[in-house]
Amino acid sequence: NKQVILRNYVKGIPKESDLMIVTASDIMEIKVKPGSGAILVKNLYLSCDPYIGIFMREPTPSTSALWDAFVPGKPIAGFGVSKVITSDNPGFAKGDFVWGIVDWEEYSTINATGSFFKIDININVPLTYYIGILGMPGLTAYAGFFEICSPKTGETMFVSAASGAVGQLVGQFAKLMGCYVVGSAGSKQKVDILLNKFGFNDAFNYKEEPDLDTALKRCFPKGIDIYFDNVGGKMLDAVLLNMRTSGRISVCGMISQYHLETRDLVQNLPDIIFKRIRMQGFATYDFIDQYPKFLEFVLPYIKEDKLTYVEDIVEGLENCPGAVVGLLHGKNVGKQVVKVAQE
Ligand code: NDP
Repeated sequence: NKQVILRNYVKGIPKESDLMIVTASDIMEIKVKPGSGAILVKNLYLSCDPYIGIFMREPTPSTSALWDAFVPGKPIAGFGVSKVITSDNPGFAKGDFVWGIVDWEEYSTINATGSFFKIDININVPLTYYIGILGMPGLTAYAGFFEICSPKTGETMFVSAASGAVGQLVGQFAKLMGCYVVGSAGSKQKVDILLNKFGFNDAFNYKEEPDLDTALKRCFPKGIDIYFDNVGGKMLDAVLLNMRTSGRISVCGMISQYHLETRDLVQNLPDIIFKRIRMQGFATYDFIDQYPKFLEFVLPYIKEDKLTYVEDIVEGLENCPGAVVGLLHGKNVGKQVVKVAQE
């Protein structure tokens, strides 16, 4: 059973060498004991998410408020799509597909099946969708946009890291709501996707815009009603200057800040007062009870081809370290997935 192990707590930006692939001989001996209620699953797809980098760091009281850090010498964990191999649980049968949090390894024994969702194969979508558009990133975009941003038709909306797992959905949800949508991303290829695949009204490559304030003023001459923040830092600072009165900022992520030893100062926070901005952070976990409502909302749009989802799938457990680290350098184009085994 190959596993992806954290060597040591990470300082600074994670490197591929902070993770290692080991073959654990003991794991295959794990039996799903009668009466245990456990299931043994074969992991098919693993989800690379920016929080993985956060939990590779030594825990702080702040990060522990979200989730427990990984343990050096043990496998890291994250969302995955898996197939049930053995089941002692009446809720799951051999051959079922499931999604939930698994250790990063080829096979996992799941004792706490309560947080596992069985996949309805009659819903005819790729299995990878359950760690993307129909999984945690999808619920993040849905709750973070509709619950936190209180969008109204005709409003202007800006999203950063706009081509990523969460950002591409936020932009498309906002278009469906009748908003004017602009996104930023870190390459020409990503900007083209925003404009031509997701139908954003405008988009810019923040790495080529030396002055973010000017870029935002060009895209939003009358200002921004809603900002869905995936990056924090300098982008957030520039956005604050361009927010309209009574604007809303959904603080979903601050990927530009997670691994800095000295974080960027955000200079324009007083604009929150001057413009009566509502700015709110959130964790997707808090909205888990909205998952059925989210599915009801999103599935018809997928069926009618009114939502598109771009994925970046690499193959092989041995490529997990590169995929996780690549996210932090913007190498992924769309939702980063690692395919571990054949369905
Ligand atoms: P993405 O698929 O968007 O991948 C991360 C992207 O972030 C990269 O592709 C890159 O895109 C961008 N990026 C990386 N480093 C920087 C940087 N220094 N400055 C600006 N952009 C950078 O990831 P997700 O969609 O999965 O996550 C987006 C954000 O949402 C993250 O901040 C994540 O932590 C957060 N999140 C929060 C959740 C919550 O519960 N609050 C749940 C899920 C995600 P580019 O090339 O465009 O720079």
